[in-house]
Amino acid sequence: MRENLVESLFEGRVPYEIYHPFPELVEPSAGQLRGLRENLLQAENPISGVELLKRWEILSRGEYWGAPLRTRLCALLGECNPSAALSAAVHFALGRDLVENFGTKAQKQNVGGKNPPVFSFALTESSPGSDVSQIQTLARQEGDDFVLSGQKDWVTNGLYAGFFIIVARTQPMRAGTKPGLTTFLVERQPGMRIEKLDTAALSHAGVAKVSFDDLRIPRSAILGDLGKGMRVIRAGLAGARLLVSAAAAGACRRVYNDTISFLEERRAFGRPLANFPSVRAEIAKVLSDVLAVETLVLAAAGDPLTRRESFLERGVVRLFVADAAERVFHGARELYGARAFTTQEGGKQPRVSWADARALTLLDGSDFALQSAVVLEGTEPFRRKIASLSSTSEQLDHLDLLGAQTLERMRGKLRRALSPHIPKMRMDELESFTTALGELVRDKLKKHRDYFVEMHNLHRRILCITTELAGWLALASRVRTEAEKHGEVGARRMREVAEVWVTGAVLRIRSSMEALDENQDPTLDRIAVRAMGDRSYPFEG
Ligand SMILES: Cc1cc2nc3c(=O)[nH]c(=O)nc-3n(C[C@H](O)[C@H](O)[C@H](O)COP(=O)(O)OP(=O)(O)OC[C@H]3O[C@@H](n4cnc5c(N)ncnc54)[C@H](O)[C@@H]3O)c2cc1C
Repeated sequence: MRENLVESLFEGRVPYEIYHPFPELVEPSAGQLRGLRENLLQAENPISGVELLKRWEILSRGEYWGAPLRTRLCALLGECNPSAALSAAVHFALGRDLVENFGTKAQKQNVGGKNPPVFSFALTESSPGSDVSQIQTLARQEGDDFVLSGQKDWVTNGLYAGFFIIVARTQPMRAGTKPGLTTFLVERQPGMRIEKLDTAALSHAGVAKVSFDDLRIPRSAILGDLGKGMRVIRAGLAGARLLVSAAAAGACRRVYNDTISFLEERRAFGRPLANFPSVRAEIAKVLSDVLAVETLVLAAAGDPLTRRESFLERGVVRLFVADAAERVFHGARELYGARAFTTQEGGKQPRVSWADARALTLLDGSDFALQSAVVLEGTEPFRRKIASLSSTSEQLDHLDLLGAQTLERMRGKLRRALSPHIPKMRMDELESFTTALGELVRDKLKKHRDYFVEMHNLHRRILCITTELAGWLALASRVRTEAEKHGEVGARRMREVAEVWVTGAVLRIRSSMEALDENQDPTLDRIAVRAMGDRSYPFEG
């Protein structure tokens, strides 16, 4: 069975083969994408995302594409028109695929046909989007029908959608009970109020507010099972995470290309900007992050994942991308100087904005909430094991959380001996950081037990280390595959760029490891509590 990325890393094991050989797109898929690429890169007009998808028949063609091709499609769209990338991610992962996987025969027939309808997914409300238990939209059962009332705040494609997947509670909110969410597949109809939501980013993605006031829908509109909406939501988010990560990877590639062409022309102090050593260092770092982002996204897209694995792994990919994309855009802004802030058409500012790239990775929830969710779900088997024991510290001291650690240590030695040698990719350090991560997770779980759930700063740091290790592993596999195909010399260029990225990753991992024991962060807590009490800046100027 395929190894599980998150659980392996949390157990301190490097899943060496998980991304190996590095997945590549083969013909005829690669050719299809090349053709599309030429057309899309020429289509510069800021048309709506949905219009662009329709114009190039992406909705109908994409229906039959698997994850590797759809991921590359979203990367390409992220490069040309990030709003279209968001529209496509929502349409496919949070619409089309959910009907395919959870829909009844009648529902599938209803949305089929030559001109596929556009899909929207309506989950978020004015309550915190990260906390689905707060959803207020109610579907009241009346005979064989449901009566839907509520308002959804951020509905991508809402202006154009033919079908909406609407998340509602089917029982009134009651303290201490699970929300009992249900997903409904609802065709656009007069009883829905749809208003444009003006957004500061991705403004061509047709984002709308959608509200329903006693909208009657038949029972047959339930998508999946009554009260089991979380299954549908999770499946949708797992798919969407990969596609928006790909879109952000495309945005990074675009900003890199634009930056390079800007630097080609610009001169200061009598020489081209690209001749300054500090500018060169920044170009190299930005390129290394662009490569790392693309690599982890493609690595995760290339595998037939099981649902549970994909949920956690794609969370890691999404968090990795959000972080690395920040570095890419930060570097690009520095290199552009004031031009980064001009809005004139034809100016040499990066054409994909930081706000667009960041907003793409917000579709599936905030980073903080996602970090905790991945850590808690990834450590669940260990936490269950701890909970099943009595609380005597002696028992805990002897607890072998991973089942057979002695055996594992022996296996570890063997694995190290067999671990792939990839020149300059510092595989021995990857191995020892992973072992250290496993020990840290185990120690913290044993030490803090139930309170571990509350330790959000600890989750953040664990996740920072995990995402860096995942990126490292994917890059190592890509370099290794490149060397297998083109020899050491042929792979040198990519390997050198990867080496720069690994140097940065080592520093980031060390800093997260050092900060790990300061998780209580009592000073930070104290400062924040007082800040909230003061309500404004507390010092005299
Ligand atoms: C461009 C765009 C398109 C979107 N499209 C859709 C769509 O099609 N359908 C849809 O349903 N939604 C959509 N959304 C909404 C998106 O899903 C929500 O923005 C997201 O879930 C976050 O919810 P929120 O904005 O309410 O933030 P909140 O949940 O209010 O979070 C605000 C901040 O609080 C902190 N926080 C919250 N929870 C935690 C936690 N557990 N731990 C630590 N910190 C926490 C974080 O710092 C977070 O950034 C879209 C959003 C954007 C930006």
